Amino acid sequence: MKDKIPYKTYLSEDEIPTQWYNVRADMKNKPAPLLNPGTLKPLSLEEMNPVFCEELNRMELDNDTKWFDIPQDVLDFYKMFRPSPLTRAYFLERALGTPAHIYYKFEGNNTSGSHKLNSAIAQAYCAKKQGLKGVTTETGAGQWGTALSMACAFLGLDCKVYMVKCSYEQKPFRREVMRTYGANVTPSPSDTTEIGRQILAEHPGTTGSLGCAISEAVEVAIKTPGYRYVLGSVLNQVLIHQTIIGLEVQKALQKIGEKADIIIGCAGGGSNLGGLATPFIGEMLRGEANYRIIAVEPASCPSFTRGKFAYDYCDTGRICPLAKMYTLGSQFIPSASHAGGLRFHGMSPILSQLYHDGLFEARAVEQTSVFEAAELFARTEGILPAPESSHAIRTTIDEALKCKESGESKNIILGLTGTGYFDLKAYEQYNNKTMSDFLPTEEDLAASFAKLPVIK
Ligand SMILES: *Cc1c(COP(=O)(O)O)cnc(C)c1O
Repeated sequence: MKDKIPYKTYLSEDEIPTQWYNVRADMKNKPAPLLNPGTLKPLSLEEMNPVFCEELNRMELDNDTKWFDIPQDVLDFYKMFRPSPLTRAYFLERALGTPAHIYYKFEGNNTSGSHKLNSAIAQAYCAKKQGLKGVTTETGAGQWGTALSMACAFLGLDCKVYMVKCSYEQKPFRREVMRTYGANVTPSPSDTTEIGRQILAEHPGTTGSLGCAISEAVEVAIKTPGYRYVLGSVLNQVLIHQTIIGLEVQKALQKIGEKADIIIGCAGGGSNLGGLATPFIGEMLRGEANYRIIAVEPASCPSFTRGKFAYDYCDTGRICPLAKMYTLGSQFIPSASHAGGLRFHGMSPILSQLYHDGLFEARAVEQTSVFEAAELFARTEGILPAPESSHAIRTTIDEALKCKESGESKNIILGLTGTGYFDLKAYEQYNNKTMSDFLPTEEDLAASFAKLPVIK
C-alpha cells in the first residue's frame, strides 16, 4: 500500500450521524406532489393516514425541514451494524492498474444483507410508537422483507410479507430467514385477499409480480385494524432514512482529509443512491462543491436512461398514489434479470427531479458485464457482492479505467449495497456461461408509455 490512507476508515459509535438529511429543503424545484389514485388530486395527510404510518407521512410531505433527529432507539439499533467503514479498494485498484482511488461503503454487514435495514428499523419504530399491532409489505428479491422482519422482531411488531410467488419458490432460504424473525410470509398472488383472488381467477398459474404483491399488502393493511403498509424504497421518507450512508461517508472523508470526485450507486427505486448522494448533492445545490454523480441501472429496466418523466402509478394494480417520476410505465414488466432489487418500473420522485434538473448522470449496464465486474470485485476485495450492487461496481471499474487512460487520479466513491449470498443461482448461471442479456425494444417501451395516465 503506497499511500497513507488506511484500508478501512472507521467512525466511532458516537460519530454516527444523529440526524437524517432532507435534500428537498435545499431544492429550488421541489418534487411534484403525490396524487390520490381516485381523485388525481394531491394526496393529503388525512388520506395517507389510514394506509401509512402517521409520522412517516409527515416526513413524506415535508419539503422544508432540512434535518430530522434520529430517535435514540433507532440510533441504538443502528449500533448493531453501524457505522459501516469506508474502505479503500487498494486490491481492486492494483488489479486495474488505475491511478484512481476507489473507496467503497459496504452496507451488507447485517443479516438482511443490504442497506434496507437502515429504513426498516426507522419505519418499524414509527409504527410501534403509533401503537400499531403490525405492518404489511411486499418483497420481490427478499432483502426488504428480511430487513423489515428483523426490525419488527426487535420491536415486537407483527409483520406480514407478501412475497412475489416466483421468488418465494426460488429463494426458500430468504423465506426461512424471514420466518425465523417471526414474519408471516405469503406467496403472492394469494387467496388471502380480494385482489389476489381476482388476479388468480384472471391469470391462473401466474408467478406474480411486485406490483401485484404491493396491491395485496395494501389491501390487508387497510382491512386489518391496527395495521399499516410500509414500503422499502422510492418514497421520500426512505431516501431520508438512507442518508445515514452518505453522511457517514462525508465524515470518513473528512477524517482522512480527502474529497470525493465521482460518486456511483445503483438505482432501483433510488433509496441507496439517494441516501449516498443527496448529502453531496446538497452541497452542490448550496453552491459549496461540485461532484460527478452516476446512477447505474440495469439495461433491462432503464427508468432514467430510457424512461419518461411523468406522473405514473407506483403499482400494477393502480391502487397506490401516483408519483411524478422517471418511469417505464406501471404496466411495464421487465424481463427476468437477477438484480431483483432493480426491477421497479419507476424511480424516487426526489431523484427524478434532481436528474431532470441535471444534478447527476445515469447509465444503463448489461447483466453479463455486471457479473464480470462482480467476479473481479469478489476476487480482489473478498466481498461477494449482490447483483444490484454489482451494477455500481461495473461503472466504478469503467471510470477507474478511464482514469488509467487519462492518467488522472480521481477519488471514486462506490455505494456497495449488499451481499450476494442469496443470489447464487445467478452466479451459477454466470459461471456456467448460460446468462443472457435482455433489453426492451423501442416498441416494448412505446406500448408501455401509451398506457401512462393522462394528468391535466
Ligand atoms: C433493494 C436493493 C437495491 C435497490 O434499491 P434502491 O432503493 O434503489 O436502493 C440495491 N441493492 C440491494 C442490495 C438491494 O437490496
